[in-house]
Amino acid sequence: MKKYNFYAGPSILSEYTINNTAEAIKNFAGTGLSILEISHRSKEFSAVIEEAMAMVKELLDVPEGYHVLFLGGGASLQFCMVPYNLLNTKAAYLDTGTWANKAIKEAKLFGDVEVVASSKEANYTFIPKDYTIPTDADYFHITTNNTIYGTELRKELDSPIPMVADMSSDIFSRPVDVSKYDIIYAGAQKNLAPAGVTLVIVKESALGHVNRVIPTMLDYKTHVSKGSMFNTPPVLPIYSALQTLKWYKEMGGVKKLEELDKAKAAALYDAIDSSRIFVGTAKAEDRSIMNVCFVMKPEYAELEKEFNDFASTKGIVGIKGHRSVGGFRASLYNAMSMEGVQVLIDAMKEFEKNH
Ligand SMILES: *Cc1c(COP(=O)(O)O)cnc(C)c1O
Repeated sequence: MKKYNFYAGPSILSEYTINNTAEAIKNFAGTGLSILEISHRSKEFSAVIEEAMAMVKELLDVPEGYHVLFLGGGASLQFCMVPYNLLNTKAAYLDTGTWANKAIKEAKLFGDVEVVASSKEANYTFIPKDYTIPTDADYFHITTNNTIYGTELRKELDSPIPMVADMSSDIFSRPVDVSKYDIIYAGAQKNLAPAGVTLVIVKESALGHVNRVIPTMLDYKTHVSKGSMFNTPPVLPIYSALQTLKWYKEMGGVKKLEELDKAKAAALYDAIDSSRIFVGTAKAEDRSIMNVCFVMKPEYAELEKEFNDFASTKGIVGIKGHRSVGGFRASLYNAMSMEGVQVLIDAMKEFEKNH
């Protein structure tokens, strides 16, 4: 049976990415060797990482003065590396969910953290709008897509100070004005590659302004100066990331991907909004087009497991919601097709008719 993968992360990748990665595991770039066993300093792999960096720059229209890095440690290590490298006295953070909270916790190890606003009291069902960003902070940190709660900031904020953004779960789903950011980072396993690599876009002039000593591996300057080759980078995920980036280009780039993503999300939200038994959890104006969170209305709450089982008979996989929201979460990353979304919608409608 064909499977429709709605997992939140690691998550669906394009067939193009999977097939080319599988091929390279057997025979990489005609070398007769597997990508798993080749030197990261071979000319074949150097070409891969350089092309991947160039494609990130092309797809996101990255301006001069920025570097693209492929690092280990996940987005979670960036929660620490960002303040290590940028926080002198104070940083401002917007608290929009579990991941934002984890970033705040790490930043507090390095200096003052002003949480400008939080929607925690409302179980993060919306993104706060009324707050002032302190102009004396070193940076303002945001989480553009809240993977667990299904809320998203889909446009650049007006910030008087440079921003830092965790774009782990919505990078490449829209054009971004990179010039507004000192650092953009994204764990690759949501919308780019298998787990193991983190994409970082860093503005060179933002570095070198803190007084503390930074351990070599945690210093962005180390990786900038060595082109992400200070130590062995995650070779296989970088190869896969390049395949995804090529596929994104073939699909028409991030503007086109945004159009497709918006259409998929609109179809699913329409089905939820017109349903007798399902209801969305996030406030409509802040709804994510990447992670669609919904639950059973209270009077149907006991049908949750039954729907999950029913959906799996249709090949639908990974729609169980995160435990902090419950219910369901359908992740509609770039590689998810409208066909897959329609299968889910049809399953919801059929289930509703039978209850
Ligand atoms: C998944 C996720 C993370 C954590 O990423 P790791 O690579 O597992 O550290 C951080 N932020 C957001 C928004 C995420 O979706």
